[in-house]
Amino acid sequence: MLHRGDELTGQKSYRDRAVAHPKIEIHSNTIVTEILGEAAVAGLRARDMKSGAVSEIEIAAVFAYVGLQPNTGFVQDLLSLDSGGRIAADALTRTEMPGIFAAGTMRAHSPCRAASAAGDGATAAVAADRYLADGSWSAHEISQDREALRAVACGERALAHSRSSM
Ligand SMILES: Cc1cc2nc3c(=O)[nH]c(=O)nc-3n(C[C@H](O)[C@H](O)[C@H](O)COP(=O)(O)OP(=O)(O)OC[C@H]3O[C@@H](n4cnc5c(N)ncnc54)[C@H](O)[C@@H]3O)c2cc1C
Repeated sequence: MLHRGDELTGQKSYRDRAVAHPKIEIHSNTIVTEILGEAAVAGLRARDMKSGAVSEIEIAAVFAYVGLQPNTGFVQDLLSLDSGGRIAADALTRTEMPGIFAAGTMRAHSPCRAASAAGDGATAAVAADRYLADGSWSAHEISQDREALRAVACGERALAHSRSSM
C-alpha cells in the first residue's frame, strides 16, 4: 500500500488492522510515478517524497484510489459549491434551491462514510416528504422551528406531530 502522507487516513480500526496485517506492506510518503508492464501490470515505479529515492516494486495488480471528485458540475450554476465542489445544504439536506436536496458524499461537510451517506438519504426522503406536503423550505423557517428539527431527528411520528402543531 503506497500512501502520499505520513500516516494512513480512514477508519482507525481498519488502519490498525492494515498496519498489523502480515501480508500488507505500507510505504508512507510515497507516490507512484509509473505503472510498469506490457500486456498486464508487472510492477510500478515509486518515489519516496522525503528522500527522492525512486524504486521499482513488483506487483500483479493496481487498485488506484487518489481522492474523490464529486460530480456536481452540472449544478454549479444553480447551487453554491464549496472549494471541493461539494453542495452546501442545511441539516435537512436542503440546498438553497427549493426542491433540490444534497445527500451523501457530495454534500458539503459530509463525513464521507457509508453510514452517513445512507443517513443523508433517509433525511432527504423525510425532508422531501415534508416539502411535498406543505412546501416549507427556507432555512429561516427551519431555524425558527425547533419542533421541525426535532421531527427529522426522531422520525416520521415526530414529524407528523410537528406538522399538526404548526
Ligand atoms: C476506496 C474506498 C473505500 C471506502 N471505505 C469506506 C469504509 O471503510 N467505510 C465507510 O463508511 N465508507 C467508506 N468509503 C466511503 C463510502 O463509499 C462513501 O461515503 C459512500 O459510498 C457515499 O455514498 P454516496 O451515495 O454519497 O455516493 P456514491 O456511493 O459515490 O454513489 C453516487 C452514485 O451516483 C452516481 N452518479 C454520479 N453522477 C451522476 C449523475 N449525474 N446522474 C446520475 N447518477 C450519477 C454514481 O455513478 C454513483 O452510483 C470508501 C470509499 C472508497 C472510494
